[in-house]
Amino acid sequence: MFKEETISGIATASGEGGIGIIRVSGTVAIDIIDAIFKGIKGKKAVDIESQHVAYGHILDPENGKTVDEVLVLIMRGPRSYTREDVVEIHCHGGIVPLKRILELTLRYGARLAEPGEFTKRAFLNGRLDLSQAEAVIDIIRAKTDASLRMALGHLAGTLSDKISGMRHTILGMIANLEATIDFPEEDIEELTAQDVKNTVEILLAEMKDLLATKETGRILREGLETVIIGKPNVGKSSLLNALLKEKRAIVTDVPGTTRDIIEEFVNIRGVPLKIVDTAGIRETADIVEQLGVEKTREFIATADLILLLLDASVPLSVEDREILQLLSGKEAVVLVNKSDLPTQLDLDEVYTYVSDRKVLKISVAEGSGLLELEQVIVDMVYSGKVEQKEGAFINNLRQANLLEQAKDHLDAVLLTIGEAMPPDCIVVDLRDAWDKLGEITGDTVGEDIIHEIFSQFCIGK
Ligand code: GDP
Repeated sequence: MFKEETISGIATASGEGGIGIIRVSGTVAIDIIDAIFKGIKGKKAVDIESQHVAYGHILDPENGKTVDEVLVLIMRGPRSYTREDVVEIHCHGGIVPLKRILELTLRYGARLAEPGEFTKRAFLNGRLDLSQAEAVIDIIRAKTDASLRMALGHLAGTLSDKISGMRHTILGMIANLEATIDFPEEDIEELTAQDVKNTVEILLAEMKDLLATKETGRILREGLETVIIGKPNVGKSSLLNALLKEKRAIVTDVPGTTRDIIEEFVNIRGVPLKIVDTAGIRETADIVEQLGVEKTREFIATADLILLLLDASVPLSVEDREILQLLSGKEAVVLVNKSDLPTQLDLDEVYTYVSDRKVLKISVAEGSGLLELEQVIVDMVYSGKVEQKEGAFINNLRQANLLEQAKDHLDAVLLTIGEAMPPDCIVVDLRDAWDKLGEITGDTVGEDIIHEIFSQFCIGK
């Protein structure tokens, strides 16, 4: 059983740093440290109280030589991340001391931890449920403060509590129905069916609300996929740079030199924008430009948000009209750039393609109009609703699919009741819904799914 194995891994990012941490978890974690640690005044690891730190040295027992000067932190199970005995060795943050100490822990009884294995143990030992474990990755990968807040809420259990509450309610209904099956003479069937119907309707409404957070949740977690398009020299790179507030793309007066497709994350009041900057759309014989055109069309098809730049200082061109046509039915904002220059562009014509609410006059050169753009983006992501600070979001596809399926099973319950089918038929659907919700929290999930989720983690987490 792996639970009896003690695992060890480097918990800090690779490279040079002030400190580095090796984490060891399992039944012999403290024995391993005792074999290689010499505390100041001879203090041994077994004598260190739980949640206490000791200062000393890691020695290689084979030659008695000092490997590094360290702090050792002991957390005895179950008061630890994995609920097992956990020891953290804080050494200097260089590759050599970290590797040497890791090797020593392996020599004295640990095996190398797999990616995510510490968190997997926390899950298997009941410290976290699966949606909380997923939140741990989301915290590590959070792109903005809003993404972080969502993930922290999930780690604290906002989503798990909601899902567990739903499961609890479903289980209550199952118990009641089973009582009517076991004791049919009580003749409470009809009443029970009506009760079940009411409760299921409440649950369905809750599920619908939760599913409505799917898009915002996904965007906060992965970013709002955004493309900046427009003909050459209209100011795309300038806009990207302004948003990044530092120069990443080359800004140039020569049309079409920003040929590479660049992907950057920008933080718009907590909304992570994943910006794809393209070479711009135009019909041309130049092969590189052609690629740009095709790519742009592709990006328009898949993007969450399209930022189309027009040049206020020149009349609308054939290319502009072509691009404007592509926007119909898409989430797009038209930015009329260079509005610091005398206007030549016919705005009324632009309004024939897109609603005037989605047209903003900006000047990247003067920095005007960008705050309005931020507002449009934030409104779009929160769909006009007040920004949700904490609370439960459905933020990954796995959870969304399971919740959809659970909802389908509850819809089936209503049908079954409508057709006056016997209570055992209702129980079947309720159980299926209960199972699907259980997969979100990991109560009813298979090994393969668990493996897949934890393999996304880094080593040492
Ligand atoms: P791209 O080819 O679409 O990426 O355009 P660039 O960002 O390279 O900009 C082309 C030129 O337009 C550069 O010389 C910019 O300095 C200039 N430019 C960008 N935005 C503005 C603006 O708001 N006003 C004015 N006057 N010039 C701008």
